[in-house]
Amino acid sequence: MAVKGEPSFRESVDLMFNRAVAHMDLSPGLEEKIRVCNSTYTVRFGVRLRGQIQTFTGYRSVHSEHMEPVKGGIRFATSVNQDEVEALAALMTFKCALVETPFGGSKGGLCIDPREYDEHELELITRRFAYELIKRDLINPAQNVPAPDMGTGEREMAWIVDQYKRMNTTDINGAACVTGKPINAGGIQGRTEATGRGIQYALREFFRHKDDMAAAKLAGTLDGKTVIVQGLGNVGYHAAEFLSTEDGARITGIIERDGGLWNPKGMNVQAVFDWMRANGGVAGCPEGKHVADGAKLLEEDCDILIPAAMEGVINLSNAKQIKASLIIEAANGPITAGADDILRKKGVIIIPDLYANAGGVTVSYFEWVKNLSHIRFGRMQRRQEEARHQILIDELERLSADKGLGWSLSPGFKDQYLRGAGELELVRSGLDDTMRAAYQSISNVWHSRNDVTDMRMAAYIVAIERVAASYRSKGL
Ligand code: GLU
Repeated sequence: MAVKGEPSFRESVDLMFNRAVAHMDLSPGLEEKIRVCNSTYTVRFGVRLRGQIQTFTGYRSVHSEHMEPVKGGIRFATSVNQDEVEALAALMTFKCALVETPFGGSKGGLCIDPREYDEHELELITRRFAYELIKRDLINPAQNVPAPDMGTGEREMAWIVDQYKRMNTTDINGAACVTGKPINAGGIQGRTEATGRGIQYALREFFRHKDDMAAAKLAGTLDGKTVIVQGLGNVGYHAAEFLSTEDGARITGIIERDGGLWNPKGMNVQAVFDWMRANGGVAGCPEGKHVADGAKLLEEDCDILIPAAMEGVINLSNAKQIKASLIIEAANGPITAGADDILRKKGVIIIPDLYANAGGVTVSYFEWVKNLSHIRFGRMQRRQEEARHQILIDELERLSADKGLGWSLSPGFKDQYLRGAGELELVRSGLDDTMRAAYQSISNVWHSRNDVTDMRMAAYIVAIERVAASYRSKGL
């Protein structure tokens, strides 16, 4: 997507890495070791479809094995190539380090337009791709654990886990070979919404830091803030839906493949999403005015811009025109290194991808732990927690009656207090805690050092320092 004269996605990630390490004290050898991608496996395989053999090209790239398994999604898109998977694998390494999920970084991709195939054909293709990776341990609960990414979801993950189990019939931990599975195939509550939920938690945390908000020329709360979101896929949809229905943000712009929708009063995200499902695009949706050149909406006035589609959409051709003072990168690499320079100089605050969209891999981590422990979160504690709360309520009510105090607990409070946490509540709590802790570690570096000018540089420094510490402790 990058415009002419701009570096590739992989080079763009390297440039961001280089900016950070210039402010660190790493030996040149270690710096190089962390920068490079360890390996990229290319597979070409044939599948008999519609009476003839079609050949597909797929990749699985492993960026860093300082911790194993390595982790990262599998993307189905026509843009997939070696440069892209390597850039995405590198981002996974830094993302995992930043949010303290105990994984190295990896990424996979299949060069395909999934909309051109029916479900049965996609199953054949996915299983065959999975077979190629499984037999080389590039899908394995202890070594390499994929997840959904652009163009894939829980359906594909269910095929992959089933394929793994067929090929490893005695592996008791087989379910942990991939995350983002449907619940009935070993998934976890809250994984589908996790990346969008993480965007919400990251913004809430940003809005708890008044100085950071002031730097982005913002004040107050999320309530009433105007938001433009690019891409109403899994991430963009959940982020926009939660921000509008739970935090009162106003979604004034939505950008999709077939143009954008614009409505300064704010749109009902669910209605737009339902329209898209039914009609294949946003055109004609009564929630907003249709803008044929959707990308132009990136340049509209708003408080918060959320690029949630793909890499390189904010580049040298449009960075100068961006008016938002706060950008949160829900996609991986939506801002090129060149655009990043321009935006920083303009004073735009960017909440970087390796932090902003880490909610997905965080909940993937919970799912992997659930699979390895073979028990659902909350199963042991929930009723016991409820019973203990009931004792306290009973005692308060008894005291009130005995002493004639006439207290009565409001039914809303009672219901909420008595309800023990189930898996979804625990997942959300773990995700919220993770996003707050990671923000704190970025903030410490960002604000304690004069040479660290922005959140991206701070996030890279935190992540690279952790990867370096891990390599050092191994004696490398
Ligand atoms: N594909 C997602 C990402 O880019 C999730 C990765 C995972 O859960 O392993 O972060």
